[in-house]
Amino acid sequence: MKQAVCTEPLEREDPRYMSPAQLAWLGVSRLNRYDAVLQCAMCGTSWSPKLRADGTLPQGYWQCPNKCNW
Ligand SMILES: [Zn+2]
Repeated sequence: MKQAVCTEPLEREDPRYMSPAQLAWLGVSRLNRYDAVLQCAMCGTSWSPKLRADGTLPQGYWQCPNKCNW
């Protein structure tokens, strides 16, 4: 059995994040796998949602600042 190497703790998909398919449905793509940098497919704006104190993403973090997908 192969031992997991912990040099990249975020290698696994973070359950806090929506799947790429879900984000695509919302008109959003994720620019960076490790940071929550999102880009609107409609206007091209990118933004980085602020994590809450407990490290989870806020409600509606996928919403474009220009309200394309509100
Ligand atoms: Zn937009």
